[in-house]
Formats: sequence, structure tokens, C-alpha cells
Amino acid sequence: MARYTGAVCRQCRREKLKLFLKGDRCYSDKCSFERRSYAPGQHGQARLRKVSDYALQLREKQKVKRIYGMLEDQFRRYFDEAERRRGVTGEILLQMLESRLDNVVYRLGFAASRNQARHLVRHNHFLLNGRKVNIPSLQVKVGDVITLREKSREVEAIKESLAAVARRGVPTWLELNQDAFSGTVKSAPDRQELTMPIQEQLIVELYSK
Ligand code: SF4
Repeated sequence: MARYTGAVCRQCRREKLKLFLKGDRCYSDKCSFERRSYAPGQHGQARLRKVSDYALQLREKQKVKRIYGMLEDQFRRYFDEAERRRGVTGEILLQMLESRLDNVVYRLGFAASRNQARHLVRHNHFLLNGRKVNIPSLQVKVGDVITLREKSREVEAIKESLAAVARRGVPTWLELNQDAFSGTVKSAPDRQELTMPIQEQLIVELYSK
């Protein structure tokens, strides 16, 4: 799958928000956003002009795309699917993004970032309900059990990430069993537990034009 390969921290500065794309570095004083919290580029520190509704909607979409590490086409497919389903489109969109296997691996604390989680899933480090899986975009369901394979339990990056899980916390819709190196999906992702400031309605407005 195509993905963004540019400077990662630049995306946080563009969105004027810490997007936590780099794992532990994001929590340290090496975070670029802590040092330069203005937009990148020549006009990054220019005085703010009045922002149009369209610009606000566009920024919101870009922000969510960046949080979940997606390019436009893939993100648009998620939106189209969310629109087809019954319910509030914006919330369904976020629920679908949260239900991706790579996101769940990240949320459970097996990886320090979604990007790292995607990499680990692709390299066969996990089982889903006891079976091998290597598709990061797979949608998990209530009752699914994600297990770190035995051969992967000594991988340093995973061990470090699990050691830091207390700091990040695990959302209540997931349950981590650290002794068994596994996690269970207890319920559908809860919108309330998305702590990032996201206004999904703006994305719906943008795509509905
Ligand atoms: Fe964003 Fe993390 Fe880079 Fe800070 S270190 S700018 S939070 S990606």
C-alpha cells in the first residue's frame, strides 16, 4: 500500500497539533513540535489570516488522514463505506479507522506508533484468533483475540512498547493480557475515548459538497 514517506514531524507542525506519529520521541523533549509549534515552510510564522470553512474542513480531513497514516484514495474509500452504513457517518468513519488491525495493535501497546504497528503486522508478528495474519487494514470484530507470536516476544521494539503501555493506557473497548501477550476486542470502539481533538463532522461536510 502506498504511504506518506516525507518528514513525519512536519505533519504535526502543519496541523498545529501533536499527532504522536513517532512513538517514544513524541513524549520526549526531542519532539519537534515542542520546539517549533508553527507551520513548516517560509510562511509558517506569518500572521494568521481568517480561515475559510473549506480550509477548516480540509485541514480536519488531512489531520485524520495523517493520524491513521493514510493517503487520499484509501481514506476516501473508508468514507464512502461509512456513508453506506446506517448511522452517523462521521462516527462510523472513526470507528472503522479505529477497528483496523494495525490501530488495535498500537492501542494495545504492542507498538509505539501506528506506523510501527503496521510494519509489525505485515511481518507476521501476530495471530488473529489463533491464525496467522499480515493485513494491517483488516477490520477486527468484537470477541477477536490478537496474540503476539511466541517467536516475536523477544523483539526489543515490542518489549519496549509494552513496558510503556501504562503511560499511554489501553482504551476500555480493548483488554490487554500482558502475561499472555494477547488482547481482546471487548466492544466496538468508543468515540469518547478518542482523545485527539477531531471534528469528524467537518470531514463529512467536505466530502458532501
Ligand atoms: Fe509529532 Fe511525534 Fe514528531 Fe512530536 S515527535 S512532532 S508528536 S511526530
